[in-house]
Amino acid sequence: MRIRTGLWPVLFLCPAFFSPLNAQQRALSAPAISIIIDDMGKRLEAGQRVLALPGPVACAFLPQARYTPRLANTAHAAGKEVMLHLPMDSVDQRPLDAGAVTLDMTEQQFVSTVQADLASVPHATGINNHMGSLLTRHPGHMLWLMRLMQRHSPLFFVDSRTTVETVARLVAAENGVPASERNVFLDNQLDTGEITFQFNRLLQLARKQGTALAIGHPSTLTLAVLEQQIPKLEQQGIRLVPVSELIELQQEDEHTWRTSWSHSHKDAKNSKPSL
Ligand SMILES: [Zn+2]
Repeated sequence: MRIRTGLWPVLFLCPAFFSPLNAQQRALSAPAISIIIDDMGKRLEAGQRVLALPGPVACAFLPQARYTPRLANTAHAAGKEVMLHLPMDSVDQRPLDAGAVTLDMTEQQFVSTVQADLASVPHATGINNHMGSLLTRHPGHMLWLMRLMQRHSPLFFVDSRTTVETVARLVAAENGVPASERNVFLDNQLDTGEITFQFNRLLQLARKQGTALAIGHPSTLTLAVLEQQIPKLEQQGIRLVPVSELIELQQEDEHTWRTSWSHSHKDAKNSKPSL
């Protein structure tokens, strides 16, 4: 009772008390980030530590890796988004993981490989590329991938951007596959200071553009930084959202921008030139 009487004056002074919708809208318009941990499925303990991270961190699994089915099932049960981390040909000719798609494949070989990969990762709702600095710059192969993803709709694609010459996101958009791209690699350098620096860069980008997406790996140092930083996000005014939600937010932004651009374009067309 004492708490109630104590709270009422505060509540009356708070505008959010009168307009809960506005408060909700404000919360929903807070900058949003997504984090994907990929290269998962090879190590059980590291994978379990990823699944224990707070919030909707997405987990991307290598197809046919030993612990992929077990960890993917647990991730799904824990409310985490599950993705296929699709191995692709790279320019540096590093050895390819099982289930890789390569430049010399026929369309039929390519499609049946990706289908088998998808089937080996239970609950997969999206795909991002593992390596792929060679394949993601080839529009023909990306077209095969996006057409297949269209047929397995709804599936989203995240371009890991392992080369600046990638056309993957563009081809996804042209074929109606919801897609986004990696803005930050958290742990290109395995050093706590550097990983923390990249995490803060992710937050800065989200504040600037509204949304931002990071990819990290199940290394001890990366996980330690995330265990420490994720619980602090809320007090910093940043939302951690599933990748599918981040893509929806980006599509809404794109739509708003297009609409306002076409209106201003029409206004400019209709207005008489002032002499
Ligand atoms: Zn990878």
